[in-house]
Amino acid sequence: MKELILVINAGSSSIKFQLFENEPSDPITLYKGLIDGIYVDPKFVAKDAADNKLADEKLPADLPKSHDSALRHLLAWLQPHIHGRKIAAIGHRVLHGGLKYSEPVVVTPEVFAILEEFIPLGPLHQPHNLTPIRILNDLMPGVPQVACFDTAFHTAQPDLHKLYALPLEFTEKEHIYRYGFHGLSYTYIASALEELDAKSAAGHTVVCHLGNGSSASAVKGGKCQATTMGFTALEGLPMGTRTGSIDAGVVLHLMNNLKMDAQQIEDLLYKKSGLLGLSGISSDMRELHASTSPRAKLAVDFFTYSISRNVASLAASMQGFDALVFTAGIGENDNIARADICARLKWLGVEIDLAANNIRSGEPRKISTANSKIAVWIIPTNEELVIARAAANSVA
Ligand code: AMP
Repeated sequence: MKELILVINAGSSSIKFQLFENEPSDPITLYKGLIDGIYVDPKFVAKDAADNKLADEKLPADLPKSHDSALRHLLAWLQPHIHGRKIAAIGHRVLHGGLKYSEPVVVTPEVFAILEEFIPLGPLHQPHNLTPIRILNDLMPGVPQVACFDTAFHTAQPDLHKLYALPLEFTEKEHIYRYGFHGLSYTYIASALEELDAKSAAGHTVVCHLGNGSSASAVKGGKCQATTMGFTALEGLPMGTRTGSIDAGVVLHLMNNLKMDAQQIEDLLYKKSGLLGLSGISSDMRELHASTSPRAKLAVDFFTYSISRNVASLAASMQGFDALVFTAGIGENDNIARADICARLKWLGVEIDLAANNIRSGEPRKISTANSKIAVWIIPTNEELVIARAAANSVA
């Protein structure tokens, strides 16, 4: 009987899961789902691989509202669905591996202690990523748990590209580096591009992960050379509700002259800015495209302008540009944003077939013309598969 791999992606109030069958070629999804509202009104949804709903229920009201209850509920639901088969390993999405972890790691008590040390680097995510590791270690003792990091892909950046121009001794003491994020998505795209277009994968690729959170990375021969996110996931491209890069002097102005406190500034920069802040309408591209408001157009224009500017900068960071890849919610689905970004990059030799760009499909596809100097791909990302592969490797 084939072993099973459980993938867990836990946040402050939700746990996403996917259960894979450990096929020798590649893990295959059996079930996926979500428990959300963990501390308010916990709800469990599970689907099969074809998106058919298998469960849609509230957790019993007498259970304590906690990650522990949520995970117990998930394991109890899985029990009759796995027909006595063994969960051989559990893979976890973990935000931060610092500069230390460039690969997934099996979590031992020593590793767990190191991962806890990274909590100050990602206080909104890291504790919630670690909680299920601790709980499942108790509930399923002996099953290897593998931490897969959003930062790991970017540890390959040259040291120079990880720096800010702060005093070097301060950087080193306080660990203020450009860590970068969305690394599991970039890992997937690098492996998929190698299968789809080995020539581009061996060259200089800029990957645009454009979703509610957005970033872009320069990837040379499959390794990260530079990325737009930095010490936190606030830097770089404008996002659904985040500013992206902003002059740090603005933050000083908000503090010193407008007397805003840290919480108010965090709210402004993380939750009220980006597409939402510019448009005053929505953080969702679909709503912005549907709107006739000039501010919706302004927000979309700022987004596509910023991305094109950053793509050129990333190409400069690796002194070459052979391929451009779009992925994540906007990158995969938004033909209007893609066409606009590519038009702004025409001067660099990017030319797309507009009809190919307009085709809706969940499959990877090339949309550049035969004459384009740059190969342009749309590749749906699959972060869970990257985690499942790493967990499967731990028991291979
Ligand atoms: P993600 O964070 O990768 O799930 O991406 C979510 C975002 O993708 C949403 O907020 C939308 O802005 C965008 N999105 C999803 N579907 C579409 C679509 N069909 N057209 C344009 N944007 C889309």
